[in-house]
Amino acid sequence: EKAQIGVTGLAVMGRNLARNFARHGHTVAVHNRSYGRTKELVEEFGSEGKFIPAETAEEFVASLERPRRVIIMVKAGGPTDAVIDEFAPLLEEGDMLIDAGNAHYLDTRRREAALKERGLHFVGTGVSGGEEGALHGPSIMPGGSPESYEALGPLLEDISAKVDGEPCCVHVGPDGAGHFVKMVHNGIEYADMQLIAEAYDLLRQVGGHSPAEIADVFRGWNEGRLGSYLIEITAEVLKQVDAETGKPFVDIVVDQAEQKGTGRWTVQAALDLGVPVSGIAESVFARALSGGPDVRAAAKDAALPGPSASSGAHGGDLQADVEQALFASKIVAYAQGFQQIQAASKEYDWAIDPGAMAKIWRDGCIIRAKFLDFIKQAYDKQPELATLLVDSYFLDAVSGAQDAWRRVVATAAQQGIPAPGFASALAYYDGLRAERLPAALIQGQRDFFGAHTYRRVDKDGSFHTLWAAEGRPETEA
Ligand code: NDP
Repeated sequence: EKAQIGVTGLAVMGRNLARNFARHGHTVAVHNRSYGRTKELVEEFGSEGKFIPAETAEEFVASLERPRRVIIMVKAGGPTDAVIDEFAPLLEEGDMLIDAGNAHYLDTRRREAALKERGLHFVGTGVSGGEEGALHGPSIMPGGSPESYEALGPLLEDISAKVDGEPCCVHVGPDGAGHFVKMVHNGIEYADMQLIAEAYDLLRQVGGHSPAEIADVFRGWNEGRLGSYLIEITAEVLKQVDAETGKPFVDIVVDQAEQKGTGRWTVQAALDLGVPVSGIAESVFARALSGGPDVRAAAKDAALPGPSASSGAHGGDLQADVEQALFASKIVAYAQGFQQIQAASKEYDWAIDPGAMAKIWRDGCIIRAKFLDFIKQAYDKQPELATLLVDSYFLDAVSGAQDAWRRVVATAAQQGIPAPGFASALAYYDGLRAERLPAALIQGQRDFFGAHTYRRVDKDGSFHTLWAAEGRPETEA
């Protein structure tokens, strides 16, 4: 018997994906650079389904039915290229190499183009949900050609998470579209985490609540419109007590957030596309600030002064206000992320359906949340929606939240508590609302020092002013 699918790279993710396929009744060929992991998998989990262990790449390829479907689950970057170089010569026309690691979408575009020339399908696929998701049902975001999805999609849909029986897996679009969307998913995840962290910090520092009390607040929020995996695990983390010291777990952890890079990639791509993902950017920078011990130590030595003691107490129900600020800021972060997906879709001709992305993120992945249903509905109603903020559900939510949101940002500023996520989301919202922006002044400055020209509100064309050098400014067309 031949295998319907093969997995090469059997560390945590690959092993669990392979087991997930086997548990769904598929015969899975398994392979790893070092045979030890392959043997271990079959010894430990062989009883879960049908595995065909292979020691060499040749054996592995020979054990697969055609068209061959080979999932690569190795360390992203050089190792992925090494594995492609090893397998591509062994495959035949129409076979598929599926990269399920966290590749950069530009690498995926490059690899897809190169393999297409050799008659092979290369399918860059986002997989979210970590180790547990890989085993029990991840959210899956495959790119690549529509033909490859025909042969591969049903298998991936089978092992993905499900919401009301519908798979959290859809063909995102050609070449790098799947990895792009996975990248933005992670960027949104960064923003979500930062906003939650700010909410906690304000409840602790302004409200004076203990981590255990705040855990209860998050548990309560999880029952409402904020209900999501990240809110749920936040409550768990906050109620955790360190076994050694008896202190709250959050207090014994070094306060320097690390990152693997997908948030940074999201912001870099957004800069190139010209999409203001300020929420994601703030969250990446907040991690960088936390992780810059030298600068923080220097600031501590210099005792950078905080606000005067008279700075006001919060003028409202803090807990209710923070919930509103968190929800409104989260809406902004998602609106920005979806705008980035739409911009890339246009740039690369991917024809991504943003509503379908919200749909497949409703379970299996880290940002899974009730809230995604409303995003899906918004795009179902209006696929060309310029920003989620103008959809009626989100418009109502944000306008209902805004007074509380402003109070929270004001309190944070007055008390000297950093809340860059809340503050920048609010500034973005006000930027969108503004009748006139001071961008007009920036155009004036640009024209002054660089003769970059400007457009006028009252007539067409581009204009340059002869600035003060000869006295009074004159205008020329
Ligand atoms: P790692 O990223 O730790 O990668 C380890 C695997 O890569 C091992 O199987 C290793 O083989 C193989 N490998 C490394 N270098 C080479 C090489 N040059 N040639 C062949 N194989 C090589 O494993 P994870 O399971 O954590 O992640 C796999 C992929 O999934 C990564 O791209 C990761 O970014 C992505 N991912 C991870 C998630 C997670 O929660 N961990 C979530 C979503 C995606 P060997 O055993 O021989 O050393």
